[in-house]
Amino acid sequence: MALAERIRERLRWYQRERTFRRTPEPEGGEAPSEDGQRFVVQHHASRHPHYDLRFEADGVLVSWAVPRGPTLDPDARRLAIRTEDHPLSYIDFEGVIPEGEYGAGAVTLWDHGTFVLGGGHRHLSDAIEQGTLRVRLQGHKIRGRFVLLRRDDRGPRERWLLIHADDAAAVRGWDAADHPRSVTSGRTSEEIQADPDDYWTSSRDPA
Ligand code: MN
Repeated sequence: MALAERIRERLRWYQRERTFRRTPEPEGGEAPSEDGQRFVVQHHASRHPHYDLRFEADGVLVSWAVPRGPTLDPDARRLAIRTEDHPLSYIDFEGVIPEGEYGAGAVTLWDHGTFVLGGGHRHLSDAIEQGTLRVRLQGHKIRGRFVLLRRDDRGPRERWLLIHADDAAAVRGWDAADHPRSVTSGRTSEEIQADPDDYWTSSRDPA
């Protein structure tokens, strides 16, 4: 199967849930970037607020919803629920998904940066298949070595655990909620919600 076709296939769940006339979210389908290896964490103030952790791989963003958010605390175990692949252009989406739409609420670009895959894997998809994903993250807020461990793969939303290694970047007691502002706009979720027309994404029309 050609790459473009595989990407279309993987974005089917994402696109099925959304009405692009009504939401400012990107529709997707663009070609993968050459450099790859980017990650993003978006705070998503939906009905059940959570953080979305996404890694660039295979022309999409492979995604987990982390209710309490990633942490630098090596003693913490964070539940991470695998969710639908997102289009690459979602990596710089910040804005408000309107009331009545899937995932309604403010999306804040909470952190972003690059990752290096560990564990001897060459492809992120191999690590996911085995249920152990080791990465070293270089973001603005979160950095150091993390592991994602699959705990339960029943149903479409697998349950994983996200754990920070006890390395030089570890900070005990560190909590995502103490660092709420957008890494790109400096806004809080409440400030983004208050100005829903001022959404930001580098892929939006310059007009
Ligand atoms: Mn979400």
